[in-house]
Amino acid sequence: MSAGPELEQREKPAPERLMLDRLRQVGLKLTPQRLAIVRALATDVSHPTAQELFDRLAPALPTMSFATVYNTLGALVAAGLCAPKCFGPGPVRFDPNTAPHHHAICDRCGSVSDVAWPREPEPLPDTSRADVLGFDVRAVERIYRGVCAACRSGEDAA
Ligand SMILES: [Zn+2]
Ligand SMILES: [Zn+2]
Repeated sequence: MSAGPELEQREKPAPERLMLDRLRQVGLKLTPQRLAIVRALATDVSHPTAQELFDRLAPALPTMSFATVYNTLGALVAAGLCAPKCFGPGPVRFDPNTAPHHHAICDRCGSVSDVAWPREPEPLPDTSRADVLGFDVRAVERIYRGVCAACRSGEDAA
C-alpha cells in the first residue's frame, strides 16, 4: 500500500473554498466579515485564537463583533473544517490543518507549529493494553516542546 497519493493531497487542500461553501450550506451569509475571517484563518499556520483573529481583522472591519468571529469559527469547527486545539492554559486555538499532524510548541514565545507525520504514521495502540486505559484510540498526536528557531536565533545574537 502506498501512502503517496494521500500525502500529495494533503499538500494541496482548498480550505478557503471549502470553508466558504460550508458556511453557505449551513445558512450563514457570506458577509465581508465572514469572508475576511475565513481568508485569514485558511492560510494561517500560527493556530490563532479567536481574539488574535479579531484583533488582526478589526482595524479593517470596525463593525465586526467578536461574536461574529467566534460564531464563524464555531460553524467551521462543527463542519470539521478547522479544529479547536488546547495545548495548555489559555484560550483555544484554531487549526485549519485538518490532516493528522503533530505540533511543536515553543517554551519561550508560545508559538505553535505543525509537524508533519512521518510517511508511515505510527500504528494505533492496542486498546486491550492497560496503558491506554481501555480507550478506543482514534489518533496519536505528539507535542514537541522546546525553543523555536526564531527564539534560538535571538539567543545567538545576544
Ligand atoms: Zn519561540
Ligand atoms: Zn496544527
